[in-house]
Amino acid sequence: MKEKTKTKIIRNDEKGIQKTRFFVQSLFAALCIWIGVEFFFFIQYLETNGASAFYSRPPGVDGFLPISSFMSFYHFLMTGEIHSAHPAGFFIFLSIILMSLVFGKSFCSWLCPIGFISELVGDFGEKIFKRRLKLPKFLDYPLRSLKYLMLGFLIYSVIFLMSGLALKAFLDSPYNMVSDVKMYYFFADISQTALIIIAVLFVLSILIRNFWCRFLCPYGALLGITSLLSPNKIQRVAKSCIDCGLCNKACPSFIKVDSVKTVWSDECTSCLNCVDVCPVKDTLELKTILPNKFKISKRVVAIGVITIFMAVTGFGMVTGYWQNDISNTEYLMHYKLMNSYGHPTGTKEIKKLNEEVKKEQTLPETLINEAHNGKN
Ligand code: SF4
Ligand code: SF4
Repeated sequence: MKEKTKTKIIRNDEKGIQKTRFFVQSLFAALCIWIGVEFFFFIQYLETNGASAFYSRPPGVDGFLPISSFMSFYHFLMTGEIHSAHPAGFFIFLSIILMSLVFGKSFCSWLCPIGFISELVGDFGEKIFKRRLKLPKFLDYPLRSLKYLMLGFLIYSVIFLMSGLALKAFLDSPYNMVSDVKMYYFFADISQTALIIIAVLFVLSILIRNFWCRFLCPYGALLGITSLLSPNKIQRVAKSCIDCGLCNKACPSFIKVDSVKTVWSDECTSCLNCVDVCPVKDTLELKTILPNKFKISKRVVAIGVITIFMAVTGFGMVTGYWQNDISNTEYLMHYKLMNSYGHPTGTKEIKKLNEEVKKEQTLPETLINEAHNGKN
């Protein structure tokens, strides 16, 4: 191994960012709880058929409909139209994608409430076991591919299998309109199977840090891919690195930070734990990969993540796209019929939907032609 030229070690006395990150995560979790409480009162209004005090539906609840938001995003890319059923979901999705293009998978470690809970559960696990447990490689790699398989199936279904007309028909459907209400009942009237699955995931998250995020979250998989396009990466200056290995120990994603110059990993969440613990000044930093490699301070990451989220969602609010256009009367009507609403659950049903929508579209043309022929 090539020996390093001894350079004077200058201590890194830059303030850590983890307390700020915890504060941002807590604030965002509180916002989600607030949205949940408002949504609960809206559901009460529906349950009493409008007899109880009126509470308007909080649009932020759209953020908990990632599949509908993804479909809405794709619909926008294809048509330039922001679909009116869950427009807030579209803006939230857009802000998260932009965030990952600028600061990597930062949504996961700075804002995501599930990521936050996973972190707290992981901390609890480490307190019990006094160490960070990791699965052996032969299990870790195949399991990590699960989230990509799920994402791949979603992308294949929406982009390759569903026609543009069928996509629009799904977004317009009553099922999509009340998918948030259905989601509420999924948790409020949780089935025994779902409860067992959540309990198993909880226990697994105590044993293996971020079990859900690392192996199963398709949203995280998507952000992992987009984060690779980000020009800002964690970079190590090999010349001043003292090989203490503290960055490796601190990384919740088990990235071997001390053996690379630039972290090009779909698992890096820009949590900056490694940057905080590095004892040598200017040795481990978030920098652009552009030729001038300028440093991005920890504070810029914190402010940047919040700014992107607020700017994009705020744009939706001021341009009047934030609220959906479903009236309370429509909600009350759909609420009664909700249990009869379904959605395509496999490739066969998507193909069937494509055909049905195509038939419906050609029907008026056929009628016009028939009427025309009749006249002649
Ligand atoms: S490499 Fe650093 S910033 Fe990325 S996940 Fe690991 S500790 Fe966090
Ligand atoms: S924390 Fe990592 S980058 Fe910093 S000196 Fe130690 S091994 Fe090198």
